[in-house]
Amino acid sequence: ASKAEGQNRLHIFEPGLLLVRRLRSQLLEDLRAAIRGEGLVMHYQPVVELATGRIEGVEALIRWNHPTRGFVMPDEFIPLAEEAGLISELGLWVLKEAVGQLRSWIADSVVDSRFSVRINISASDLQSLQFIEDVRGVLKETGVRPEQVVLELTEMAIVKGNELDRYSLAGLRGLGVGIEIDDFGTGYSSISYLRSLPVDRVKVDRSLIVGLGTDPAQPALVAAVLQLVRACGLEAVWEGVETAEQAEHLRSLGCLSAQGYFFSRPLPPEQIPAFVAAQSSRAT
Ligand code: C2E
Ligand code: MG
Ligand code: MG
Ligand code: MG
Repeated sequence: ASKAEGQNRLHIFEPGLLLVRRLRSQLLEDLRAAIRGEGLVMHYQPVVELATGRIEGVEALIRWNHPTRGFVMPDEFIPLAEEAGLISELGLWVLKEAVGQLRSWIADSVVDSRFSVRINISASDLQSLQFIEDVRGVLKETGVRPEQVVLELTEMAIVKGNELDRYSLAGLRGLGVGIEIDDFGTGYSSISYLRSLPVDRVKVDRSLIVGLGTDPAQPALVAAVLQLVRACGLEAVWEGVETAEQAEHLRSLGCLSAQGYFFSRPLPPEQIPAFVAAQSSRAT
């Protein structure tokens, strides 16, 4: 009886599995086409200097404009791209697009030479030595100053003690680009490890500030994180600021910069010039 049941089950599940597989391979096909065609777009979220309100830069965030599904968010398709071996192609596309965008903003005097673009890179980008060459190539082609490009890497992406990663980080830094640890506070890196990394800044994960304004214990925690980061010789950018209260709190603690829906959602590139202009007329 159990064998018959097993066979039944197989009959029930097989079409489902096939469907999932077909859907997946269709999605991969679409993603491949999107990378090579016009299907991917970058949005840019302003990063604000808290003391002055100046827009110090933007973070480039990828979106997939799927022909039938509409906008697909990166958390949904980046893992797919990783699995399918498409991530290096995608990474190079992002690099060219974001640095190229910065170059045209500079050329149009939308932004000045202090303005930076932050680019998220995946763990496998870091693992590949080609990536360093890609960054070098894009900088050379565009003529953008390396200090105006900051690469964001998650804590998880920096494999503890991996010599290749260390080598790649040092190589990237040798090009003059900034390196920032993203989603700081969600991984497991020890303080001594953090101190030993060739990075400039950390971007504190938004989970560390959600309670600001509601949870009485939160301000002390935020202050402690800030102290820890500074004791490591680094600076912090605070991510996920959604309320005026959170922004004011971070500012009063002496935090330098922040990013979040309170200041702006990620914007399509054509909306950045007006946003920067409005903000700089207001900045002190
Ligand atoms: P991330 O680098 O930590 O980016 C921050 C995410 O938080 C973005 O989601 C952003 O839209 C969102 N966010 C910003 N401000 C707020 C806020 O105030 N509240 C809330 N709730 N969320 C906020 P998004 O664009 O969906 O990106 C998700 C993740 O996908 C990114 O996390 C990054 O790890 C990855 N990603 C995005 N673009 C790229 C890319 O071009 N390449 C690679 N490799 N990864 C990317
Ligand atoms: Mg990021
Ligand atoms: Mg983050
Ligand atoms: Mg994230």
